[in-house]
Amino acid sequence: MWDKEYVWHPFTQMKTYRREKPLIIERGEGSYLYDVEGNKYLDGYSSLWVNVHGHNHPELNEALIQQAGKIAHSTLLGAANVPSILLAKKLVEITPKGLTKVFYSDSGSTSVEIALKMAYQYWQLKDPIRYAGKKNKFISLREAYHGDTIGSVSVGGMETFHHIFKPLLFERLEAPAPYTYRLTENNDAEACKMLCLKALDTMLREHHEEIAGLIIEPLVQGAAGMITAPDGFLRGVRELCTRYNVLMIADEVAVGFGRTGTLFACEQENVEPDFLCVAKGLTAGYLPLAATLVREEIYEAFLGEPEELRTFFHGHTYTGNQLACAVALKNIELIEREKLIDSLVAKIECLAQNLEKFHTLPHVGDVRQRGMMVGIELVQDKDSKKTFPMHMQVEHNVILHARQNGAIIRPLGPVIVLMPILSMSLEELEQLTDITYEAIKTVTAQAY
Ligand code: PLP
Repeated sequence: MWDKEYVWHPFTQMKTYRREKPLIIERGEGSYLYDVEGNKYLDGYSSLWVNVHGHNHPELNEALIQQAGKIAHSTLLGAANVPSILLAKKLVEITPKGLTKVFYSDSGSTSVEIALKMAYQYWQLKDPIRYAGKKNKFISLREAYHGDTIGSVSVGGMETFHHIFKPLLFERLEAPAPYTYRLTENNDAEACKMLCLKALDTMLREHHEEIAGLIIEPLVQGAAGMITAPDGFLRGVRELCTRYNVLMIADEVAVGFGRTGTLFACEQENVEPDFLCVAKGLTAGYLPLAATLVREEIYEAFLGEPEELRTFFHGHTYTGNQLACAVALKNIELIEREKLIDSLVAKIECLAQNLEKFHTLPHVGDVRQRGMMVGIELVQDKDSKKTFPMHMQVEHNVILHARQNGAIIRPLGPVIVLMPILSMSLEELEQLTDITYEAIKTVTAQAY
């Protein structure tokens, strides 16, 4: 099998991967994926959290074909192109107030990398004497995931993924994650919020002179296992950043474009970040494209004559790619025209109702939902909240069981994640949760 012979898969232990029959996807249609043998699966993870309107969408296809008929790519170095201009204008219009400029890249990781570099350079440009040797660190949350480049790993807080690279990374301060299930006795969201904000306040009071910025995944820490923040937490973080003169970077790579029930998660708490990182849903799952939006004041700090060296020396070959920008524009047009955000209300409610029965399962410790993002945390024992030992591969077996029954979902550690395509019908959402329920019930019952 050439897949096993030639391909090294991301985040994958290839030794175990090669023991199993690979799942080779050949095509997609609406909410479904089809493998090379013709088997059909509900796409319960939106093909890694990117798909918005379903696979093989005629209008997105057409946007791509139309653009390809003109040109596929031309550089933004010393030149502009029409789709990237139109998209930048549109992004400024639809994102939280105060963000006025768009810097393109091609993955969530690079959009974060750009925000970090810009935040650091901003302070140095603003007042090189006052900030000499200062404002050169970042705060991020425990269990944070912001990507895989060295900069984005530096602000990562996931021990499993990040510890090996520590000697290569810049310094970061770690604030507690609002992980209500694990931080409090009885899932007390308010207590969790107060605890985390107080710790952050203390950290900022002591260290704000060293801190260039704070990076956060608004409302939901996705890769950490769908840690849903208590109401008001994000707002509280914004207020602390303002009070201590620290830039706030909102990483909406996972939560942007409707995932949490509003177009952007920051909207839910009226938060205006200094930087906004978007990727994944930006092209509705069609092409790699990302954007870092910034406030005018940040952009202006970089203005000067060439010899002043205030330029932001950063860029990628495919920055502002025309095919990707054209499909992103069509994605946003569809979101608006089809009133996608309004349509989510019933879907989110349907998911919530279908998730209720999971609480009764003996090995489900916590069920978390924010919009169309769901995390079902498995435990060996509900009282101690102890998770299943890794070698038992319980979560992996849940995923295999679901696959045999027609749905593709993914685990994140002990958490089974559902990230349905936003255009899924109520019937498909019900089917997805039913398959997941059966998989968890069956596999955990045998896990001894
Ligand atoms: N930031 C967040 C919040 C993410 O969830 C991810 C990916 O899952 C990234 C950044 C990195 O994005 P990419 O995989 O496109 O580099």
